[in-house]
Amino acid sequence: MMSGKYSKSFYIGALCVFLCVFIFTAPLCFSQTKEEAKAFKKLENAERIIDSRTDSPPAAIAQAYLDRAEALLALGRETEATSGYLAIIMNYPEAEYPELTEFNKKAEEGLANLYSGFSERSNQPVDQYRVMEGQKDPTIFFAYIKSLYENYRNLGRYEKSLHLLRKLYNIDPENQSYLIDMGNIYLHGLDDPDKAMLYFRKVIEMSPEHSSAYVDLGMAYEKKEDYENAIKSYEKALEISPVSQWSMYGLKRMEGIKYTTERRLVKDWYFLGPFDNSDRRGLEKVFPPEEGIDLGATYTGKSKKQIKWSRPYSYDDSGFVDLNMLFDQNDYAIAYALTYVYSSRDREAQFRLGSDDGIKVWLNDDLIFDYEATRSAGVDDDAIDVDLKKGWNKVLVKISESWGSWGFYFRVTDPAGNPLDFMIFDPVKDDARVKRIYKKFVREKGFRITRMAMAYTLAASAFLLSLYFMISNIASKIKINRMKEDFISSVSHELKTPIAAVKMLSETLKRGKVTGDANKDHYYDMIIRETERLTRFINKILDFSKLEKGGKIFYFEKTDMVDVAKEAIGIFKDEAQDENLKISVSAEKPQIFAEADKDAIMQVILNLIDNAYKYSKEKKDITVSVKQARENTLIEIMDSGVGIPKEEIEKIFDKFYRITKDVMAGTKGSGLGLAFVKDIIQSHNGKIAVESELGKGSKFIISLPAERV
Ligand code: ADP
Repeated sequence: MMSGKYSKSFYIGALCVFLCVFIFTAPLCFSQTKEEAKAFKKLENAERIIDSRTDSPPAAIAQAYLDRAEALLALGRETEATSGYLAIIMNYPEAEYPELTEFNKKAEEGLANLYSGFSERSNQPVDQYRVMEGQKDPTIFFAYIKSLYENYRNLGRYEKSLHLLRKLYNIDPENQSYLIDMGNIYLHGLDDPDKAMLYFRKVIEMSPEHSSAYVDLGMAYEKKEDYENAIKSYEKALEISPVSQWSMYGLKRMEGIKYTTERRLVKDWYFLGPFDNSDRRGLEKVFPPEEGIDLGATYTGKSKKQIKWSRPYSYDDSGFVDLNMLFDQNDYAIAYALTYVYSSRDREAQFRLGSDDGIKVWLNDDLIFDYEATRSAGVDDDAIDVDLKKGWNKVLVKISESWGSWGFYFRVTDPAGNPLDFMIFDPVKDDARVKRIYKKFVREKGFRITRMAMAYTLAASAFLLSLYFMISNIASKIKINRMKEDFISSVSHELKTPIAAVKMLSETLKRGKVTGDANKDHYYDMIIRETERLTRFINKILDFSKLEKGGKIFYFEKTDMVDVAKEAIGIFKDEAQDENLKISVSAEKPQIFAEADKDAIMQVILNLIDNAYKYSKEKKDITVSVKQARENTLIEIMDSGVGIPKEEIEKIFDKFYRITKDVMAGTKGSGLGLAFVKDIIQSHNGKIAVESELGKGSKFIISLPAERV
């Protein structure tokens, strides 16, 4: 009866999830029209050219600004478009760049389209325009002034930029970003960290959880070379928001401070080895370093063990790189050491080496030094002129050519032999690096937004789904309530009818209206029958509630089901007293046994016969068959009644469920009978199934284990 299929609501729920996900993700997938895609491409190209400003001729950059503004307009980002137009007007004024007049004109036209009344005053200098009045969209006004001050700032006209910023701040004093921008102009533009701090502190006062203000404050401290307080500020930002892009930036700054204060221009050394070198050809026969030795890879070592690059055991400012822990003395072994040297620009420098063993040095994968061991190690035995490239330079050293070595010296100096420390690498002052890191954060932010969009989509789907289930739950509760109401009206009918009958019969007897013993007997019988019906009905309900609460105790014993079936139909026939009722038991054998509680199975059969009777029309043909099928005993109750619609078959075993279609009209019941039957059968480890055809009849098949295991 209970097929393994999912319920209807499951399919509806699944469909709902699909629709939600589709509705929310479809716009993400398809929202980009052809025009938008084109605009994005244009924007990307333009930004690339603008970024490489110094390498491109002014006309190309002006064109890029124009393209960017147009692309932004096409994407509906009007406020951002402003900055492109203003950049042309301000960076390439006609007086200085007469060849760019055409661009200036186009930029002015572009602005005129964005700002009402612009063209009438187009002979005035840009910063004199008073676009506030009559402006249809105030956000465009703010964007305009913002672009103005940004352009002034980029052009190094800090006072003008500050003037506009103050104006904006007066109009919108809640907006702390103006204070931050003012602070940054003081810090990076006017080199006035003390003034800058006033602005950052003001922001922190207004909102103590403003993590990026702490990072800005940290940078102001750095400018004052107060590294201790700078680190404190960065740490505070990290504490407030551990994963924000600004806190991460602060973390990088701290790393920079560490390198600077420790005066370390050479990264930690990594070692690879030892490898077997008994034939003196060492590692190169397996993988020549010219082909690149990869920091992440694993190699097979002297003892055939897999080894990776390891951190150094010691390295200090003296330049001595200690290999003690790596080697066994007198080992015919070989090892490589790898480090990176930072330089803020392309420059000439020297590597100063000292080693008592053969040593080879590669700089950025070029072999620059190859020396056979002949003397004892000393500081700066050899000085190699090198060209350091801007950024990190890879230095690979092959050490310990023939026997166990204790270490080697390595220093970087300028060509005159002076230590380079700050000259080579000052991450705090290395603006290019700072900018690169910042860009990376901005890119990562983009990814975060994509991830956020996906998360919102899922959250919205989940929300709608739960809403659906909530509503369907309420709906099913309403349905159950209605079923309960039906139940109460049915039950009261079942109770009232026999009581009314008993009352009427006994009153008639009392009034002496019934004469003759036979007649009186008939009345007495009717009273007894009604009372029994009432008792059975009440018992049925009580039994069910007992069963539900788990209070019903069964007595299983070997029981003859043919006997039980016969007894049940006897009781029912007596009760029904209906000439139209034809009921019989058919059994394959005289006795068919099952391990069962006799009374409980009797109730089951009575309930099923009662239904068969109730849901038959005039012709009430009922057969109870008992069969033996392998380990099971089958009891089938078959009628030729109204039948059960297919889609209702699964539900009729639910508590209070009744079919209320026309064919059933008029029959009363509790909707508990089959639920009760099912519970009893399940307690017997049995099964119940239904076969039915509308208008032809139904068959309820009970299968009980012949023996309980
Ligand atoms: P009720 O008290 O309504 O008979 P049941 O739980 O015994 O409650 O039965 C649930 C519903 O199943 C009935 O309302 C009826 O619609 C349907 N039903 C049960 N037995 C039969 C049957 N033999 N023929 C047709 N319909 C039946």
